[in-house]
Amino acid sequence: MVARETTTATSRPQRRRVTLTHPDRLYWPEEGITKEGLADYHAAVWPRIAPFIVGRPLALLRCPTGITGPAFFQKHAWKGMSRHIVPVHDPRDKQGAPLIAIEDLDGLIGLVQSAALEIHPWGATAADWDHPDMITMDLDPGEGVDWAAVIEAAQEVRRRLEDAGLAAFVKTSGGKGLHVVAPLKPRAGWAAVRRFARAVAEGMAADSPDRYVSTIAKAKRRGRILIDWLRNQRGATAVAAYSPRARPGAAVSMPLAWEELGPEIGPAHFTVANAPTRLAATGDPWQDFRSAEVPLRA
Ligand code: ATP
Ligand code: MN
Ligand code: MN
Repeated sequence: MVARETTTATSRPQRRRVTLTHPDRLYWPEEGITKEGLADYHAAVWPRIAPFIVGRPLALLRCPTGITGPAFFQKHAWKGMSRHIVPVHDPRDKQGAPLIAIEDLDGLIGLVQSAALEIHPWGATAADWDHPDMITMDLDPGEGVDWAAVIEAAQEVRRRLEDAGLAAFVKTSGGKGLHVVAPLKPRAGWAAVRRFARAVAEGMAADSPDRYVSTIAKAKRRGRILIDWLRNQRGATAVAAYSPRARPGAAVSMPLAWEELGPEIGPAHFTVANAPTRLAATGDPWQDFRSAEVPLRA
């Protein structure tokens, strides 16, 4: 249940309006991060994470007892969900069950209350379901791939996106790899965006078959990097910038400046614990993300 309270504290502004049950439940037991700790993290990063999760269909990785217990991906609204979580209807699936969105920090804390440890948005908004406003190229290193090679792959994706007139931004996945993300003015449809992302991946695999693959089926991943373009189809998701990961270490997917890529910052370097310090100490490397959007050229 959700209760309204008046807020006086300025450090944790609106988040106190949503009551958390079991605030001391350990979501990341090794790291000592509780449900309340996750809510505090989200309140701290709210201005940064909001553009990537507000007003978009979301898939949630829910872990009711934390990362050591059962986990499930949830795409649809459910009975009894917080009233701060907004059901949204896919205009192409009018008969289907509503999907999940949030509009504000209360909604995000509602997700925490629902044990959503990871947040995975669509690459389009619920204002314009059929025109993606970003491309996500997901770099998945196979076994035995050096971090330096993953960085090179990201730089090559960047080059190819920029050659196509797009701006490219990089973030850690919080898992094993990097994500290169290009903001789009939402003009092209999913088919064109998918085709483009696929062409980038296939181009890299064709030019450097010893380094890159573009299909999971090609199962020759050992020593190679999968340029996973499949995040770029209607209904697909990728983990949000700033979302934590439900894995040991409580890493988050952290936006980086291109110059920061190097041996010191691995894919799980930034965490729920150290992210707020980074955000306070460093400017926003993705500050220009939205203003850099351009339409995908045919
Ligand atoms: P890593 O660096 O470990 O690869 P990742 O977030 O990129 O981290 P992937 O396995 O490459 O993980 O998956 C990419 C994205 O695909 C995920 O972020 C998620 O949005 C989506 N995804 C993966 N598994 C599922 C699933 N079971 N159900 C729905 N979406 C999924
Ligand atoms: Mn990945
Ligand atoms: Mn992947």
